[in-house]
Amino acid sequence: MLTIDLAAIAANWRLLKARVGRADCAAVLKADAYGLGASRVGPALAAAGCRHFFVAHIDEALALRPHLPAQATVAVLHGVPPGAEADAAAAGLVPVLNSRPQVDAWRAQAARRGRRLPAILQVDTGMSRLGLSPVEVEALAADPQALDGIDLVLVMSHLACADEPAHPANAAQRERFAAARRRLPAAPASLANSSGIFLGADWHFDLARPGAALYGVAPVPGAANPMRPVVRLQAKVIQTRAIDAGTPVGYGFGWCAPAATRIATVSVGYADGWLRSLSDRGTAWFDGVELPLVGRVSMDTATFDVGALPDGALPPGTLVDLIDARHGVDAVAAQAGTIGYEVLTSLGSRYARHYLGGDELGGIQTAPARDGVPAAMA
Ligand SMILES: *Cc1c(COP(=O)(O)O)cnc(C)c1O
Repeated sequence: MLTIDLAAIAANWRLLKARVGRADCAAVLKADAYGLGASRVGPALAAAGCRHFFVAHIDEALALRPHLPAQATVAVLHGVPPGAEADAAAAGLVPVLNSRPQVDAWRAQAARRGRRLPAILQVDTGMSRLGLSPVEVEALAADPQALDGIDLVLVMSHLACADEPAHPANAAQRERFAAARRRLPAAPASLANSSGIFLGADWHFDLARPGAALYGVAPVPGAANPMRPVVRLQAKVIQTRAIDAGTPVGYGFGWCAPAATRIATVSVGYADGWLRSLSDRGTAWFDGVELPLVGRVSMDTATFDVGALPDGALPPGTLVDLIDARHGVDAVAAQAGTIGYEVLTSLGSRYARHYLGGDELGGIQTAPARDGVPAAMA
């Protein structure tokens, strides 16, 4: 069971908005709001005052659009794939133009429609992933017609090392960003993701684009996490058994009991996003007692040493905690050898999802797992 606290997400957005002072604060809802449900997270953030939303794909944008107020902007980080420009324009989406072909296709679409179309221009400032290179920025600046019919609502770039505050790339990227802006038509600017917000005011520009921090991931790894926890993951005990010293547990006999103990088999596995790298390393919690994961994580189950609990403490159906306020997404990520982002986005659609908060709709709301409609059809 996955419980998602929409009020905590809204509170996290307000905290980030306060951090960026006079700048505005968007929200990144790509990958179904980092696995938590964009159709529920979007309205909760809109109710908190958020007006700018980013997703990765046009399908994500088309699915999210009807859940947001008309005045909200939905920006597509990957831009529009060739041939989908008319659909994107008709839906009122704002593409992030990452390359000269994307710029040219959007200009052509504006000409075809006989009206100006909004767009965001991304420049690459060192990450070598998306956006115009400095040479391409020069070429664009030298072509007076390049942006004809395009309303440049934002110039943006993305930080590669913002989660390492002391990394020299942070200042270098900011300088390159400023240099690119000087060559382009005047437009508001955006550079900071979650971690970038915590680099300081020099990185805030006009609009911040946090994702992970909204969902409770620590924006500055290693430092105290100012964000409110958002996710609680619980799974049911299927059965428990007493085993003798020397008894192997799980695939490959991956673990052998050093002493007699009890094992609980819990209904969570790597198909649920409880990563296989948590084999022999994860933990569950019950009544404040830590229950070590022993043996390999299977597709649908994981086994925990529950010898520290009284016999009978975990009858079948009992819920144990896997992620909660005290043992959050970042702690699980550290055990799994990954980052909180991957833990969140791995949480499969198999869980019953319960939403807390969402007070725009009057108190506690619950909803089924997803909308039940594939994004492409929505
Ligand atoms: C994913 C993404 C973000 C949000 O990043 P977080 O680290 O989750 O805050 C912002 N901007 C771009 C371009 C992204 O791809």
